Amino acid sequence: MTVLDDLSTGRAENLAHLADVPSLRFVEGSDGDTDLVDRLVSESDVVMHLASAVGVQLIVSNPLESLLKNVRGTDTVMTATARRGRRLLYTSTSEVYGKNSTGALSEDSDRILGSPFKSRWSYAIAKGFGESMASGQHRTLGARNITVRLFNTVGPRQTGMYGMVLPRFVRQALADEPLTVYGNGTQTRCFAHVHDTVAGILALLGNDEAIGHVFNVGDTEEIPIIELARRVIERSGSSSKVELVPYAEAYDDGFEELGRRKPDTSALQELTGWAPTRTVDDAIDDVILHERSREGAAVGT
Ligand code: UDP
Repeated sequence: MTVLDDLSTGRAENLAHLADVPSLRFVEGSDGDTDLVDRLVSESDVVMHLASAVGVQLIVSNPLESLLKNVRGTDTVMTATARRGRRLLYTSTSEVYGKNSTGALSEDSDRILGSPFKSRWSYAIAKGFGESMASGQHRTLGARNITVRLFNTVGPRQTGMYGMVLPRFVRQALADEPLTVYGNGTQTRCFAHVHDTVAGILALLGNDEAIGHVFNVGDTEEIPIIELARRVIERSGSSSKVELVPYAEAYDDGFEELGRRKPDTSALQELTGWAPTRTVDDAIDDVILHERSREGAAVGT
């Protein structure tokens, strides 16, 4: 297996526990490097395009860079996999639904994007481009593309540097600092443990009937963000308090919040039998454990 990453938001340290796996090769490089990507694709049987410049904080503060990086990388990877006839799994995002907060979102639910002047939506545009390219290649070229939409994946090794809430809360709790809940904290999300997300992705990758289709992957238990903060404090034994931070202070201009985002995962369950095996509390505990071990090892951010 070959991992290609430019380490712009990922960390080489995240693969350290796999250093002894002889079949794993790490290549530091960009998914927008046409020659490199084409060569690596030619050497592979299947390709998982997981790379993204992601994180609401990053997207709102660097909208142009993240838009172009995502579009160019996806174009490069998909062009190579279609040309070489390789099966491709493309990871899209629940962000493509935009502000649609109507309940459990199924794969054909409407996308409701905010104003084009709000830079938050540039990520939905870039990932929507990828989805359209994947389905267009399938229809016109017969490319064996599978698209998954991930809903708030969390777990050990995720960084809080680009805005993701759970690693941020855990870091704050372990430092006995206030947990910064944005808005009034009544907005909800459904958090999926990375272990379950990976199982869903692998089940789809190996299923011929998934080709040409889109699948939601995520947990369906909704939790208000303020409740997430309380649980992190409780489960870490922290003396931190919750601090409500207005959105205008939390993000640069171009941010817009969404109230709720919940997946309908019945398509994935019916096709593969997949079901989540871990709760949000399991995810909180695993992130706490991981962050404590990093603190113990005195690793940087
Ligand atoms: N959030 C928060 N405090 C933080 C970071 C995020 O209250 O320090 C909130 C954020 O406003 C959103 C939720 O947590 O309502 C999830 O944010 P994240 O960026 O992890 O995911 P997304 O907004 O893409 O679902």
